[in-house]
Amino acid sequence: MSKNNRILVTGAGGFIGGHLVKAFCRDGFEVRAVDIKPLSEWYQLFPDAENLTLDLKSLDACRQATDHVALVYNLAADMGGMGFIELNKGACMLSVLINTHLLIAAKDSGVERFFFSSSACVYNGDKQKDWNVTALKEEDAYPALPEDGYGWEKLFSERMSRHFREDYGLITRMARYHNVYGPQGTYQGGREKAPAAICRKVIEAKLSARPEIEIWGDGQQTRSFMYITDCVKGSRMLMESDFADPLNIGSSELVSINQLVDIVEDIAGVKLERRYNLSAPKGVNGRNSDNTLTRKVLGWEPSTSLRDGLELTYHWIYDQISENRLLEMGAATAIKPPRRLKETVLR
Ligand code: NAD
Repeated sequence: MSKNNRILVTGAGGFIGGHLVKAFCRDGFEVRAVDIKPLSEWYQLFPDAENLTLDLKSLDACRQATDHVALVYNLAADMGGMGFIELNKGACMLSVLINTHLLIAAKDSGVERFFFSSSACVYNGDKQKDWNVTALKEEDAYPALPEDGYGWEKLFSERMSRHFREDYGLITRMARYHNVYGPQGTYQGGREKAPAAICRKVIEAKLSARPEIEIWGDGQQTRSFMYITDCVKGSRMLMESDFADPLNIGSSELVSINQLVDIVEDIAGVKLERRYNLSAPKGVNGRNSDNTLTRKVLGWEPSTSLRDGLELTYHWIYDQISENRLLEMGAATAIKPPRRLKETVLR
């Protein structure tokens, strides 16, 4: 990939987009970073990149974003963990406007390659009913029965990316990410995913000396989780490859949610009483990534162990929570007038 090629990263103010911008800036590429959020809310901001706030649901904004760009990494989406996607199906489906308009603008402005961040949520739900799941191969997306809302939008946009390649010659690449986690990701506010949510809950229990944790579902549901550096590496390798069909980019280290909690408790040095919330959103019973095709195409697969990745993630979230608590305490003492002053004012 030539360094004269400008790279557009959309969703750059979010988790994966921010890490991609970081990697491209570090490697000396010219980067345009775009997100709908004001720059003050971006998870990571790099002065070497051209940073723009644009709503990519609009075609005009997509034309501005793709102007004089050779490569597009499309990470923009209105999404979150199970708690968000199960309760915001309409909002998730509206991301189709981002994907549609960005593909049109990329085709019209002569973009060379277009990367689409799809998801394991495209896979047929009937193949994910058992927690003792058979890992999902790329062909398991059809016959189509994806996650309602978010998964349908991803499957449709994969299909659209394919047809833009077939009909208009735009080279498209599609990664099916399986749960990505790591530092600089969402860990609170309702859009966080299981690894960050569990780290946060364990940290809060530890800091407040209340030794209990709420777990969504019965804790037996199984998943695999990919560390962010593997995600960035796999995405770049897929973009540079000759492979045109959707490809799993995910870890194949399967754990139950209970085992995930065990690992985080071990890192934190605590043991918590578990309360299972059976009415909370929990997604499918089991999901894992079959990496046979990924290994064949890329000669690689994610290799960061869950324990190692969680250790780094836990400590990052711990620092954020501790810092926020200090800021809140500082703000409280700064705003609250000293008792004597208050009395003086009242008199
Ligand atoms: P994220 O929410 O951290 O980042 C997405 C970014 O897109 C956000 O910063 C958001 O503000 C931005 N965005 C939303 N609407 C926009 C718009 N109209 N115009 C411009 N920007 C807009 O999510 P993430 O975890 O970094 O995920 C990135 C991509 O990877 C998404 O497409 C997501 O569906 C996909 N994906 C992520 C995971 C995961 O586990 N994180 C798994 C599968 C697929």
